[in-house]
Amino acid sequence: MEEGAQTKKGEPVPSAAGPHVVKIIRTEYITPNVKRFVVERPRKYIFKPGQATKVAINQPGWTEKRRPFTFTNLPTAKRLEFIIKIYPDREGVTARMALLHAGDELLLHEVFGAITYQGPGFFIAGGAGVTPFVAILRDLARKGELADNTLLVTNRTASDVILDEEFIKLLGKRFLMVFTREHVIGFHERRIDRDLLVTLVGNFDQHFYVCGDDAFVHDINNLLLQLGAKSEWLVFEKK
Ligand SMILES: Cc1cc2nc3c(=O)[nH]c(=O)nc-3n(C[C@H](O)[C@H](O)[C@H](O)COP(=O)(O)OP(=O)(O)OC[C@H]3O[C@@H](n4cnc5c(N)ncnc54)[C@H](O)[C@@H]3O)c2cc1C
Repeated sequence: MEEGAQTKKGEPVPSAAGPHVVKIIRTEYITPNVKRFVVERPRKYIFKPGQATKVAINQPGWTEKRRPFTFTNLPTAKRLEFIIKIYPDREGVTARMALLHAGDELLLHEVFGAITYQGPGFFIAGGAGVTPFVAILRDLARKGELADNTLLVTNRTASDVILDEEFIKLLGKRFLMVFTREHVIGFHERRIDRDLLVTLVGNFDQHFYVCGDDAFVHDINNLLLQLGAKSEWLVFEKK
């Protein structure tokens, strides 16, 4: 439904809530199972770095299947970008998104999300959980405010790391990678546990931004609290 459109009953559709019909402009795989989508941006569609929206595919049978995805583009960008992990075996929305190309359409709903920048700190991401941090860190870089922030990402193997080249450029030694499955010389190969956090974080008197699947967020938050992080300084998406 286009902006300014009317419902079947002739009521105007509120533009902030959507749905906004947007065309996909281009797509590419940036890891073997993570696909980047650049899409049109509706007018007056405002969000803060780290926030998300519910997305559906504008094809018969798919329009009501909404899934949350995070904007990874700068808030000032002309286009929207999503970085989406595809789950081919679930027969869900992401498996269908694997088949989409330029010219296909998505439906975007209202903006939501609790992960926004609160001040310098330590960002910890499991897999595709890095997406809110992409937007936040790109925005800080644009404003020249990236100093004193560190990003730690954990993935199964080196080929699963999202935007590693960009993060190395932005953060240098403040970009840390941990691999759970693959031996990579010079990098940490293990799960994030108490000892690893003590070694890598050092200072627990700072903001912590945590994003990943529910179990990851729960486990990392608990470890951080045990190590002295303040609960009010933990930033994560509350369910
Ligand atoms: C606020 C927020 C922001 C997010 N942002 C992003 C983002 O930017 N990028 C990103 O990649 N992801 C993001 N996610 C996660 C993303 O929303 C999910 O990966 C997505 O909804 C999966 O949709 P799906 O339809 O493919 O699969 P699902 O809806 O998860 O699953 C479809 C079906 O598969 C089955 N199934 C579910 N889980 C499993 C399992 N573990 N094993 C086997 N079968 C299963 C079930 O029958 C289910 O109905 C975000 C999540 C939240 C909450």
